[in-house]
Amino acid sequence: MHFQWYPGHMTKAKRMMQENIKLIDLIIELVDARIPLSSRNPDIDELGKNKARLILLNKSDLAEEKWNTAWIEYFQEKGFFAVKVNSKKGGGMKSVQEVIQEACREKTERDKKRGILNRPVRAMVVGIPNVGKSTLINALAGKACAKTGNKPGVTKGKQWIRLNKNVELLDTPGILWPKFEDQTVGLRLAWIGSIKEELLQTEELAAGLTRFLAAHAPGTLAEKYGLEEAEDGFENLRGIAESRHCLLKGSELDLEKAARLLLDDFRNGRLGRVTLEFPQNV
Ligand code: GDP
Repeated sequence: MHFQWYPGHMTKAKRMMQENIKLIDLIIELVDARIPLSSRNPDIDELGKNKARLILLNKSDLAEEKWNTAWIEYFQEKGFFAVKVNSKKGGGMKSVQEVIQEACREKTERDKKRGILNRPVRAMVVGIPNVGKSTLINALAGKACAKTGNKPGVTKGKQWIRLNKNVELLDTPGILWPKFEDQTVGLRLAWIGSIKEELLQTEELAAGLTRFLAAHAPGTLAEKYGLEEAEDGFENLRGIAESRHCLLKGSELDLEKAARLLLDDFRNGRLGRVTLEFPQNV
């Protein structure tokens, strides 16, 4: 699923976010574990100041475990609560519940001192399109008892999902626009499929990915497509086209088809777990 951003979208998304943020105590920010910084929009720091913050590295099943660990440490050092999850399989949901409690402890204590007892902590999931917000909400809601506010007689409006006796989650996520002004960031977002690749040409994009893989995950392309890995990305694309019989009429190699095939394999995890950006060189 691709999402194209226009200024109108951004203004609307920002307005919704500003409104909803007033209602909550905790921001659960989803990032893609393969590109934990490139999949963030730093505007959330401004929008969410004075709120408790939790960062979830989602799609951790698609990223390398040692880098997942390194990224968690990176965010924790910056003062965030951080946990890795796989929303699709439901992995890490128990830790999420626990860390939500922990992230909100300060607020609960403050309430207690003021004599406010049993007011649930309210949370909202935010992130760029396609990062897995709906999947996470469903995974958390699946274990939750019932939605509040959707019973007959209850005014329609914001729907809160009660996760446990202390925490309620807004059932609609906050959408952050991706920040793709930076070319490298744009490239990484396009590799994972979260921005339209018309912005960058498919073959260029795929060739660039093969260069990255040859350098950072050597052997991956060789094993999957039986090619000899080259520094030249187009050489690699030709190798993929040959091994997968991507041919045009007259048996010319169809590089665009090979490019799509590679991107599709990569995005669906068929090239194994690959992290695309690393904490030490950011
Ligand atoms: P949203 O736009 O942020 O709400 O994203 P969605 O919840 O619609 O998810 C986008 C895609 O990512 C869907 O195809 C999900 O199945 C997939 N997805 C979500 N979470 C995970 C995860 O942890 N691992 C993997 N492999 N895929 C996921």
